[in-house]
Amino acid sequence: MGAWGFGLFDSDHDLDLIWELNDDAGLTRLEEEAKKSKNESRASESNGENEASEQQHQGAFGEDEISYSMYRSHCSDPTAPRDHHDAGALSAMLEKYETELLSGECGDTLRDPGYKFMLAGACAMTLGCHIPARSKETMKQVYMCVSLPHDGVLQMKKALHGPGEYQDGVPYDFSSLGLIGTMEEAHSALPSRGGLINVPGPGGLFYNPPKGDKSGLQKLRARYNDERYGANVCGGCGAEDGKEGIHLRSCARCKGRKYCSKACQKKQWPTHKEVCVEATNEETV
Ligand SMILES: [Zn+2]
Ligand SMILES: [Zn+2]
Repeated sequence: MGAWGFGLFDSDHDLDLIWELNDDAGLTRLEEEAKKSKNESRASESNGENEASEQQHQGAFGEDEISYSMYRSHCSDPTAPRDHHDAGALSAMLEKYETELLSGECGDTLRDPGYKFMLAGACAMTLGCHIPARSKETMKQVYMCVSLPHDGVLQMKKALHGPGEYQDGVPYDFSSLGLIGTMEEAHSALPSRGGLINVPGPGGLFYNPPKGDKSGLQKLRARYNDERYGANVCGGCGAEDGKEGIHLRSCARCKGRKYCSKACQKKQWPTHKEVCVEATNEETV
């Protein structure tokens, strides 16, 4: 895997993933349709005079080239992709990845939904899309937890928390010079608990958060789990009390969350422990 930096969009990994995101977002199809209609209109105009093109030359792209992407630098013109996203495609895709992230096991693999969620969000910022408030909140909770590239963690921190944080509708430049200057500072400002960024070694492009830094994600997962499984079903598998001989028992500590078995309790403990508070004496049965 090639990488030319430790930031977002600095590796083949990210650029490959952007192709997948483009497919997922429906941009690949949109681009094909735009090319097709352009070819058709060109064919119908070819009899007339050759009018000067009013289209502006867009950097690396030829005047006639159409390229749509989630990522601004890959776009011949960002307007159509941004409109497409703001019309609903972005919120749908972020919600999908977010649900996968919160319901699944901890994302340590490269193509985990958490990484897709963050990269899609970062791409949307480069276009200046409107990012749903809920997704933005989740990004703030999990950017430390999804193994972004080392500098990508800091880029995301700045984009979400500032200074100069991302504003809906205003394309965001992740490679801005001001950011590079603050990198050194930001490195030392990362949450501690052994949370220093490892010296990047072979395969060390991605930040591996220490356990304490994953609590934001675990809290969100616990909350998501409690929403998914109501108070009167097993928090591990959703089994209902009294059905098929199932007898739910409450968590001994908080007396709140119920489980059908030790196995389900154990499976859920990494997330539940973030919201499990010891019950007071009056509430104890
Ligand atoms: Zn269960
Ligand atoms: Zn508990």
